[in-house]
Amino acid sequence: MKKVAVFCGSRIGNDPAHAEAARELGRALAGRGLTLVYGGGNVGLMGEVASAALDAGGEVIGVIPQFMVMRELAYAACTDLIVVDSMHTRKARMAELADAFIALPGGLGTFDELFEILTWAQIGLHGKPIGLLNVNGFYDGLLMFLNKVAADGFVRETELNALQISSQHGKLLDMLAARPSREGDWENEELRNRT
Ligand code: AMP
Repeated sequence: MKKVAVFCGSRIGNDPAHAEAARELGRALAGRGLTLVYGGGNVGLMGEVASAALDAGGEVIGVIPQFMVMRELAYAACTDLIVVDSMHTRKARMAELADAFIALPGGLGTFDELFEILTWAQIGLHGKPIGLLNVNGFYDGLLMFLNKVAADGFVRETELNALQISSQHGKLLDMLAARPSREGDWENEELRNRT
């Protein structure tokens, strides 16, 4: 595991614990020599995780669509800032670059990114580890709902198990590193080429 994509809010949220968790994660990635891949903005939790990683001497790759450059204050300090043509390309490029994914607290954009990467794992487009940093129980309600979805027969529990969950960034990074990518075993080349 060399590069970790982080999905998180473009807003800072009301609980200061969320910004603190974003900064801690940024520092931890840098400390472990892991490159941060993220949405390239300098707003909200996105800006917190990126600036903390950079300040700690880490590498940061930002991927931002051209039309978001002003809106999300594209972060010129990134080691590498990749400007793409659309939201879809952004997600595809981040998915390609990263060896693992972590979702921090966030809003609709974060959910979109997390669920897309989970569904791509479900249908075998990739086998990269996915983690949820459940800061201060932020995702408890979602996890309860996902259990109901499994109980109601709309997703298999084994598919939900693809999502590794912890409230501690260090533990989550250890869990992701311990679950190697299953790409070689079950990635479906043909399906991937159609995305
Ligand atoms: P949010 O969690 O809503 O604050 O958004 C977090 C990040 O997700 C921001 O960089 C948004 O630009 C991005 N985002 C929002 N919607 C989408 C989408 N449909 N596809 C890709 N990224 C998105």
